[in-house]
Amino acid sequence: MFADIVFNKPIGPLTYELKNHSVNACPGMRVAVQLKQKPTVGIIYKIKEETDLPYIKPVEETLDKEPVLNDDLIEAGEWISRYYLCSIGEALWTIIPKGYKKREKSIIIDNQFPTGERDGDIVLTDEQQVVFDRLRKSLDEEGASHFLLYGITGSGKTEIYLRIIHEVLKKDKGAILLVPEISLTPQTINYFSKRVGDQLAILHSRLTKAEKINEWQRILSGEKKIVIGARSAIFAPMKDIGIIIIDEEHETSYKSEETPRYNAKGVAYYRAGKHGATLLLGSATPSIESFYLAKLKKFTFLQLSHRVLNQKLPKAHIADLRKIKGKKYISTFLFKAIERRLKKKEQVILFLNRRGFSPYVYCENCGYVFKCKNCDITLTYHKGEKRLKCHYCGYLEQIHEVCPACGDEKLLYSGFGTEKIEGLLNDYFPGAVSARMDTDTVKKRGSLSRILSAFSKKRIDILLGTQIVTKGLHFPDVTLVGVLNADIPLNFPDFRSAERTFNLITQVSGRAGRSEKGGEVIIQTYNPVHYAIQTAKNQNYEEFFIREIKYREILIYPPFCRIIRLVFRGIISKDLFESAYNTVSLIQERTGDYISILGPTFCPFSRIKNNYRVHVIIKVKQLEPVRSVLREIYNTLKKKKGQYIEIDIDPVSML
Ligand code: ADP
Ligand code: ZN
Repeated sequence: MFADIVFNKPIGPLTYELKNHSVNACPGMRVAVQLKQKPTVGIIYKIKEETDLPYIKPVEETLDKEPVLNDDLIEAGEWISRYYLCSIGEALWTIIPKGYKKREKSIIIDNQFPTGERDGDIVLTDEQQVVFDRLRKSLDEEGASHFLLYGITGSGKTEIYLRIIHEVLKKDKGAILLVPEISLTPQTINYFSKRVGDQLAILHSRLTKAEKINEWQRILSGEKKIVIGARSAIFAPMKDIGIIIIDEEHETSYKSEETPRYNAKGVAYYRAGKHGATLLLGSATPSIESFYLAKLKKFTFLQLSHRVLNQKLPKAHIADLRKIKGKKYISTFLFKAIERRLKKKEQVILFLNRRGFSPYVYCENCGYVFKCKNCDITLTYHKGEKRLKCHYCGYLEQIHEVCPACGDEKLLYSGFGTEKIEGLLNDYFPGAVSARMDTDTVKKRGSLSRILSAFSKKRIDILLGTQIVTKGLHFPDVTLVGVLNADIPLNFPDFRSAERTFNLITQVSGRAGRSEKGGEVIIQTYNPVHYAIQTAKNQNYEEFFIREIKYREILIYPPFCRIIRLVFRGIISKDLFESAYNTVSLIQERTGDYISILGPTFCPFSRIKNNYRVHVIIKVKQLEPVRSVLREIYNTLKKKKGQYIEIDIDPVSML
């Protein structure tokens, strides 16, 4: 007997012989083999009786007693490899949890969640009931059905997710709920575990490898029928899926930024189709693409337009930074608003999309700018650590006394990040307790839940943070949200920058006024008249959509086209341009079926980790003609010495 084994490499399956000790081997099991004289772990893709190859190496050991991938997931891997253009090995190794990458065996840990609360404790509002009934009906319909739930923040979407998941369980089917990693806070986990804990598996990045494998095994065996997790939970090994829910469907984190660059939304669409399941996308700020699909009736449109118990949406104001003199960190307007809340013993969330103390350090005398040695990116000053840091590659440098170029001592720390604001808050509001929540402060296991728990017990008055504070948090005493610099996402060179700005402001605004106390939002910006900021201030998604969709149509951006992006990475930029030009002319020779080809040019981030980056952006009406050309030349592209070529279907980042 022989087995086709696949590896996490851009190469096809390789055949090995199954010896006596491996008679029970079957597809989806991991094996130990030699690959180019190196001991390597592979996955069995196919078993076969014969081979015409003259010399065959043996499988040394099978590492699993039962397959870790079922047939359903192996097929999903085949689909990924065709759709996103990668080897079947890369696809299957993406599907299994990280813990399996080594020879680790699985162990069973008991981690049942406490349960007790029941659905009946909350009565659905009329609006919620309509949405719920429609979804419940879809569970009995033949084939897959697709829904977009557009519900403002606090409208009770999560409650609907829970209820419909219960219905799915009654039919003895499974449910997958995807949420962005950063909203997988202890608060959210708690909400679910109290209600459906006994059947619940939660997959998030704070689990250890062993815990991840453990959860995976329990889903595979059918013991756990509900999975909540971030992007990769879309690969949960369930036999019979009844519903897939993607919360905050507009989030870019559903797209993987490593090969294969899959989008969990795309995989969800594929899996829902295979299982005849219901696919539900939910958001307060749907992506332009999804909303457009709903307009075209490709998705059934569902809406929740009121907050539960009729809590009002917070009132929003703009603080025009152009009119403020001196240091433009916290405007007087925002300052006074914070003071008012503190007096009333209410709480404040401040959002700033940038960590560290200062993102830009330079010499006043000669203009020298401190940049990363490996990347074309400025270093961020982290005051507490007394170091300069590259946020892309992690490069560190001690702070300097003098300019390395001219020896002058006048080094300036310009711009501001969360660390700088943290210091200011202590000076401005000496009586108040503030806490900073960003990747620097929540690195340690447990620190995120410590901060959130202190905040909910009102031991913290002001919570300052990056994206991490914009999602899913529900604190009734937060009555003020301040957006310190709304322009950071707006200034990115990307066609989705207005959409991201609108989303961020809306999401963080939704953290305010979640009780009868009401709420207020203050948005600090240099672009007060920009439509993304204006419509976000007025909480008017529809108006934003109308403006944005026009712009997309005129300039031909998704949803009016599809995009294929090729990024050529390597040490010698001239070679990258040569490869890129060759690829472009090859595509032009083989097919005329595209809208336009932009580039090759340097990417906006032209060098990262010592590699130059050159890209080509191909706009197409449909993916297939250009994608099939790329499939044909895949092997040649991947074999280029000294170069790495990324193929990105439907990219979400153009940097
Ligand atoms: P969303 O996900 O749309 O932002 P949530 O589902 O988090 O909103 O709901 C906000 C809050 O309202 C939660 O604390 C939730 O428990 C509560 N809630 C939801 N539905 C109801 C209801 N029908 N009656 C009372 N409270 C509700
Ligand atoms: Zn760097």
